Amino acid sequence: MSEVAAYATPAADRPLRPHAIERRTPGAHDVQIEILFCGVCHSDLHQARNEWKNTRYPCVPGHEIVGRVTAVGNEVKKFRVGDTVGVGCMVDSCGHCEACQAGEENYCENGFTATYNGSLHGGGENTYGGYSTQIVVDEKFVLRISHKNDLAAVAPLLCAGITTYSPLRHWNAGPGKKVGIVGLGGLGHMGVKLAHAMGAHVVLFTTSPNKIADGKRLGADEVVISKDTEQMAKHAGSFDFILNTVAAPHDLDAYLNLLKRDGTMCLVGAPATPHPSPTAFNLILKRRGLAGSLIGGIRETQEMLDFCAEHGIVSDIETIAMRDINDAYERMLKSDVKYRFVIDMQTLRDEAKAA
Ligand code: NAP
Ligand code: ZN
Repeated sequence: MSEVAAYATPAADRPLRPHAIERRTPGAHDVQIEILFCGVCHSDLHQARNEWKNTRYPCVPGHEIVGRVTAVGNEVKKFRVGDTVGVGCMVDSCGHCEACQAGEENYCENGFTATYNGSLHGGGENTYGGYSTQIVVDEKFVLRISHKNDLAAVAPLLCAGITTYSPLRHWNAGPGKKVGIVGLGGLGHMGVKLAHAMGAHVVLFTTSPNKIADGKRLGADEVVISKDTEQMAKHAGSFDFILNTVAAPHDLDAYLNLLKRDGTMCLVGAPATPHPSPTAFNLILKRRGLAGSLIGGIRETQEMLDFCAEHGIVSDIETIAMRDINDAYERMLKSDVKYRFVIDMQTLRDEAKAA
């Protein structure tokens, strides 16, 4: 075991603050990683504040991790000391259920182990995430990073990237398809970039008029202000697929109306309280689908990272120091983030050294 510097929250109504945690000595299949950067996902905020009512404290969030391998176990095949690697939202799964066998560990029937607020090896020990200087992870859940530069901007691919890539692929976003992305935050801006790179006609829906120019720069062919009913009406019945990333309850009917026959809207945003439910007629009349999607499996996460490296895709980020995390959460709640905060973990190493 080794003691590692981290930031944790001790209770739902308390800010994050310095907190030492223990990491295991790498076992035969483990990779020890010095964390360089960790993205800040809206899920971190939901979880730190117990908005999903399942948080165990102390809570060390962070599941968009990029780092460098500092040690490997005897049996590790895929990684060597010095490699640049990533860790996303999962660090383990049962490995034998139908979903795991299909490479969709994210839908593990026995429940995957989340990178934080998970139960380690099913033993009940709480997992601690990437707001820390080091982590030890089974090589099966470690990803290869082939981007040469911009490693801070690669970190958000590990959650925001895969969470948007997976449904875009599943519902065949590509040439000839009209695809909507709802919300230009961390997930949404990756959705716009990825759908554009896949060759779809991309329409961004935003509540923020000041994001129109950015939406186009990031790859949207059109930007619609979702509060403007006239602009919305122009797109009625025209979408093949809509990916909804909004983190708060809102009127889903406004978007279901925009789907054509057999079109689907997939929810990835996970608000703490339910949406006002859709009107059944909105689904029935055009055989529309309302679906959901959860991150992505390890194989697909690697595919997404390789796709992004090949297409020169990274996240648009604002780098912050570890000690600024509480302010970053407040800004995220105001939709004031362009478009992902990423923590430079050297700031935590320096802080721990000075303490
Ligand atoms: P984020 O950066 O805060 O972005 C959310 C965006 O939604 C905002 O930037 C804003 O965009 C829009 N929005 C916020 N409040 C709104 C409201 N009241 N009405 C309409 N639009 C609103 O959050 P994120 O990190 O992208 O995460 C988004 C959600 O996805 C969170 O609930 C998170 O927990 C969830 N999530 C799910 C998965 C999964 O596997 N399914 C994975 C990761 C995250 P505009 O300013 O453009 O309107
Ligand atoms: Zn996330």
